[in-house]
Amino acid sequence: MTFAVHGLPVARGIAIGRAVLMAGRVDVAHYFIPPEQVESEIARVRAGRDAVVDEIHRLQQTITGMGPKEAPHELSALLDVHLMLLQDQDLIAGVKHWISERLYNAEWALTTQLEALSRQFDEMEDEYLRERKADLEQVAERILRYMKGVATPVPPPARRPAGGLQQDLALEGTTDVPLVLIAHDLSPADMLQFKQSVFAGFVTDVGGKTSHTAIVARSMDIPAVVGARSASQRVRQDDWVIIDGDAGVMIVDPSPIILAEYQFKQRQAELERGRLGRLRHTPAVTLDGERIELFANIELPDDAAAALEAGAVGVGLFRSEFLFMGRQGHLPDEEEQYLAYRRAVEGMQGLPVTIRTIDVGADKPLDDTRHDDAHLNPALGLRAIRWSLADPAMFLTQLRAILRAAAHGKVNMLIPMLAHVSEIRHTLSLIDFARAELDNRGTAYGPIAIGAMIEIPAAAIMVRSFLNYFDFLSVGTNDLIQYTLAIDRADESVAHLYDPCHPAVLRLLADTIAACRAQGKPVSVCGEMAGDVDFTRLLLGLGLRSFSMHPAQLLAVKQEVLRADTARLAPWAQEVIASDEPGKLLA
Ligand code: PEP
Ligand code: MG
Repeated sequence: MTFAVHGLPVARGIAIGRAVLMAGRVDVAHYFIPPEQVESEIARVRAGRDAVVDEIHRLQQTITGMGPKEAPHELSALLDVHLMLLQDQDLIAGVKHWISERLYNAEWALTTQLEALSRQFDEMEDEYLRERKADLEQVAERILRYMKGVATPVPPPARRPAGGLQQDLALEGTTDVPLVLIAHDLSPADMLQFKQSVFAGFVTDVGGKTSHTAIVARSMDIPAVVGARSASQRVRQDDWVIIDGDAGVMIVDPSPIILAEYQFKQRQAELERGRLGRLRHTPAVTLDGERIELFANIELPDDAAAALEAGAVGVGLFRSEFLFMGRQGHLPDEEEQYLAYRRAVEGMQGLPVTIRTIDVGADKPLDDTRHDDAHLNPALGLRAIRWSLADPAMFLTQLRAILRAAAHGKVNMLIPMLAHVSEIRHTLSLIDFARAELDNRGTAYGPIAIGAMIEIPAAAIMVRSFLNYFDFLSVGTNDLIQYTLAIDRADESVAHLYDPCHPAVLRLLADTIAACRAQGKPVSVCGEMAGDVDFTRLLLGLGLRSFSMHPAQLLAVKQEVLRADTARLAPWAQEVIASDEPGKLLA
């Protein structure tokens, strides 16, 4: 039966495919294997299972000789249950099915079958049996751990299936059917792992529109919906679903009429994409001759290619923290960071790259081992520059790496979440110190412009004082909105109050742009507002001439720029920000 689940639209477009449910285990690799590898992949799981069976047998032998104190009866009963689950035909047959019919890699097949069986356990009446789900998870975990210890084959290059359902239905039963991922939650690091994956769309139960998970999804340029509450509970593995990333809706088990409608929309979107593609080499100049700079936001050095492809004039925000995530405590050293920054710089072929120093904390934990659950308000805690200043050795390592990369092209350094003049002074003195360290070592480095992000209301109010210290400013509207309105950007339950058009937000933004223009200092916006075509005219009217956004958004914004007349927009923008309800004037 067809039904819809509503959430928040995050990344535009329509995806039609089969649901892959991801419960908990998102850190395993997901890729398709070549058909000739089916047998060896099944053998990998079998070897994993046999090893765990042996381990349990050994354990059983050890405890046989022990007294009831050291080895209580429950322990041996538990091991019996684990052995029984390991021999379970549904587990084995299911894993084989996903590998041989869908060509999933072994780890993916095992977690997919685990998910299907977990659902069956959830539905059991008997409480004892229901609780065996935890045992099943432990057993699967042990097999996965064993497989991890054994050589993991290198995944073949990712294939991202595309195309309408008609084509997909014709291919049903083969591996070319698009797959969409449905999960309760995904961290930004998990999301990043999916950048090279096979998925054609994403839906998560939790998350806000500008949560970092949503930001990475948007950068992948595939349809995504977050904050869809019970989505992962209501969809079953392998259900056909439509993800409407424009409306923020997921439609499950669509009827033929609904399918036809969405296939039509999908084709229209393709045509529009093709039309926009023609603007790639067109300079971004308004009707009244104002030249507008459109920069790209990137997460990884290799994203530079997408930035160039979209016709960006440089990188306006390289979120360097993604290099630090998911490394289980082993942070990249200076050399590794230097090579990564250098790759981004060289990838941009002479165009400028703005590297933001690490911004972890809040909804961007470094990894699973460092969740900030101990603090009640992590977004107000040790995040971004506060984190860096609290760990000078880590920060200096990053500063030296950025300075060294600047020897290979034009690099700007951007500092996130500053609020206090004392933080500014401390940061600038550490940058000087990093230069001195490189001088002492005789290591080459290049000149950099240093900028601050304006993303805390205190910084926006004190913008003139910031301008005494920095070469340029960049407004992080995602956080500026979060902190001005006291709305957690990652919390879907207050997402309706997260309002970029709130007059207080717009006034802070307008004042920052005006202050920079008055002093002739460059200013840009690098938050999600910059890539949202609904705000392009307003930002131009407020005097903004530099925007930074996901490469996928760039051509649509350019189209708005080409149609705009800034001389006419300026008085209108003043009217908008003077209004109590600016959103109504923008509609
Ligand atoms: C912002 O806050 O607008 C910004 C660009 O930084 P981030 O989204 O990474 O916090
Ligand atoms: Mg920010």
